[in-house]
Amino acid sequence: MPALILPAWAPLLVAPFIGSFLGVLIQRLPEDRPVAFGRSACAACGTRLTPRDLVPLVSFALQRGRCRHCGGAIGWFHPAVELAALGVAAWSIIACQTPQQVWIGCALGWTLLTLGWIDAACFLLPDMLTLPLLLAGLGVAIASVPEDAFWHALGAACGYLGLRGIAAAYRALRGRDGLGAGDAKLLAAAGAWLGIGALPSLVLVAAVAGLVWAGLAGLAGRSMHATTDVPFGPFLAASFWLLWLYWPAWGLA
Ligand SMILES: [Zn+2]
Repeated sequence: MPALILPAWAPLLVAPFIGSFLGVLIQRLPEDRPVAFGRSACAACGTRLTPRDLVPLVSFALQRGRCRHCGGAIGWFHPAVELAALGVAAWSIIACQTPQQVWIGCALGWTLLTLGWIDAACFLLPDMLTLPLLLAGLGVAIASVPEDAFWHALGAACGYLGLRGIAAAYRALRGRDGLGAGDAKLLAAAGAWLGIGALPSLVLVAAVAGLVWAGLAGLAGRSMHATTDVPFGPFLAASFWLLWLYWPAWGLA
């Protein structure tokens, strides 16, 4: 395969634009609205936005967070997603060894960022993201570690069935749903990317992170009960990302 003739920092240049698209995905996927590149109009005055209004981060900074037409506040959502996408790219560049791995890391990280953000906001992990992520994981495994592809396919199957099994047991014991089908599909995608051997660690890290978060939220004065809904997706996504980056046996080996 020809080497990518791009500077190592190229993902940093692309990241804010990807982040701008991810912001649109995060807002529109849960509502089944058509997804197009970029926002189309100011939320306050409805004026159509021009390319000049839509340069990621730069427009926001130059316009000091206000609409050029009506002066209405633009809000932090879009710049926050753009910054997060930039953070994912920087992290990927620091942690990965080859340009190819950096780009794969970016694609994985940006998808997980979108999934985690949507789940945190809407308790939803859209199939439109989890299923392609699963297929991509199998594809990367077949291309990079063909001798281990079986364990990645098994990881996908066991990730899905394992979490559906836990969800069914929880429903039988408690009489209510604790985990969604989306969580099972995200874990299946993780199994495809990392292989079956990584799944116990992945679930453990995600569960510990979720408990720590619930503890901190409780300390911060939020009322947390056994029945308080906490989305599991953001923790699964974070654990997935960390294991892929830092567990060489399954990720970057
Ligand atoms: Zn406006």
